[in-house]
Amino acid sequence: MKQLQGDESVQSFIFRVLMLNGESDFAGVLNRMGEWRAFPFVATMHSHLFRHYDPEYLLSVLQRSAIANPVAGMFSNPLSHFELVPTVFRNGVENYSQQTQNNFLKVNFCVDCIADDLKNCGFGFFRAEWLNQKYCHHHKKALFNLTGKSQSVAASNIQKALRGEIPTKCEQYDCYGDQTSLGTDVVENDVKFAPCLQKRLLHWLRKNCMQLEGETNDTERITSILMKKTGMYAQVDEVQLENVCNIVKDNHPNVFKAFVNEQSEEIYTSFKLDSHLFKNKLKVIKERNCSICKLHREGYQCSESKIISVAMKETNYKLLHENPCDYYLTNKRPYWNDYPLGGSNAIKDEVWSVFNKIKEVN
Ligand SMILES: [Zn+2]
Ligand SMILES: [Zn+2]
Repeated sequence: MKQLQGDESVQSFIFRVLMLNGESDFAGVLNRMGEWRAFPFVATMHSHLFRHYDPEYLLSVLQRSAIANPVAGMFSNPLSHFELVPTVFRNGVENYSQQTQNNFLKVNFCVDCIADDLKNCGFGFFRAEWLNQKYCHHHKKALFNLTGKSQSVAASNIQKALRGEIPTKCEQYDCYGDQTSLGTDVVENDVKFAPCLQKRLLHWLRKNCMQLEGETNDTERITSILMKKTGMYAQVDEVQLENVCNIVKDNHPNVFKAFVNEQSEEIYTSFKLDSHLFKNKLKVIKERNCSICKLHREGYQCSESKIISVAMKETNYKLLHENPCDYYLTNKRPYWNDYPLGGSNAIKDEVWSVFNKIKEVN
């Protein structure tokens, strides 16, 4: 008997599953004051209760609660947001930073919505939109708030609210049609560029950008990022490279697109949770000489080890820290941050030769 709701918050979902299984420890969803945790977690001892839910469903519950949306930035890891699924539902609190743990949200609800849900689906639940709202747009009335008590009082009040009651000492907000911003800027899931493509892009931009005509301002901005005053190439970090790309994209969308299409192809890269593969697109270097991208194609990032596990029978595969793709996935920051782009820091030949050997074996 799975009770799934298309607009339930993750806090409500975890609370209900624990409650339906007779658990009474709600510390993973409520703080000591009885507020929702903005980043809730399931204690390791309860994680088995969530294992039979479809991982894609768990991801969608998180995303509608403003957790686990794709990370912004054209070079960011296209798989990192999938990690939130095991972080929330498997690994317990130790995966969160202290700062993240200290984000809380009011426990708000519309008593009429819950009454409707009890009538229509036989059970009540807290909607994701109430996490950041004080007003119900369906019923045109202010929400109730049951925050500000202890965790155990909140837990029993939440159970009352789920039964359609208004717990005593609940306050109704004093607002009319409040349009509180949801604060859930959805990051567009645009296709990311693999770290190995950054170098290609930078070379191309250095060679061609001076010839690309555009607003004088833009040309100057590009030059100031890519060149030193002495006329030498400047070292460029990921953010600067993205800025330059965006300027070129705006001024010469077709030229930029043509270069990207010529140099790269889109593949699916995967994040593995149990037997499920979460997939996302990634632009990688087209030619076969990026063996790393080949491994991305045929392997996956794993929720257990957090490194790329290679699905193909690859016993020779070694994690190389000089390798930009792997560096990103294991260190959570771009290779170029630690080894800035520049002539002497180009990828070493012996690194490529190792991967070319692997290619030959296959
Ligand atoms: Zn309502
Ligand atoms: Zn690559």
